[in-house]
Amino acid sequence: MGGGGQVTIDLDALALSSGEAARLDVAMRPRAPVVGGEQLAIADEDVQTRVDISRTSSGFALRLRAEAVVSGACARCLGPAELRIAVDAREVDQPSTDDPELRSPYVDEGLLAVDAWLHDAITLALPKQLLCRPDCAGLCDVCGASLNDFEPGEHRHEPALDPRFAKLRELSE
Ligand SMILES: [Zn+2]
Ligand SMILES: [Zn+2]
Repeated sequence: MGGGGQVTIDLDALALSSGEAARLDVAMRPRAPVVGGEQLAIADEDVQTRVDISRTSSGFALRLRAEAVVSGACARCLGPAELRIAVDAREVDQPSTDDPELRSPYVDEGLLAVDAWLHDAITLALPKQLLCRPDCAGLCDVCGASLNDFEPGEHRHEPALDPRFAKLRELSE
């Protein structure tokens, strides 16, 4: 398993009776998420993923847990950013029902698509923007320098460059 290919678990092959459960630990490399139009990367060689499968009277109750380090460009300063994501997702699949709420999109013909599920779970767990740190100061509007490289208020341009300051000066004269 792993290597970026599809990772599936054959639920029927587990031959669980109603009330029985199985736990599988799978290492895989899911497709990397896209957030806010930015393609991110998954830093881990392989993401260790734990899948719990419980047989119910009418189908399966599924749980997926994993931790992954996602990396990309900071949305404010464009510097490198990394975030550790923990996912804990659940699905129910009852093959005999017509209720779409009780069908899992990750189960098809008794095969659970673990990599697709993990990819979506990571995407859902991500914030709207990836930041290098929560208080990233971003880039200077005037010269594009990273304001993280300066003490707060230390990076300034001549007031004359900013028309708002010129106006203020006129008013105070
Ligand atoms: Zn940043
Ligand atoms: Zn500047």
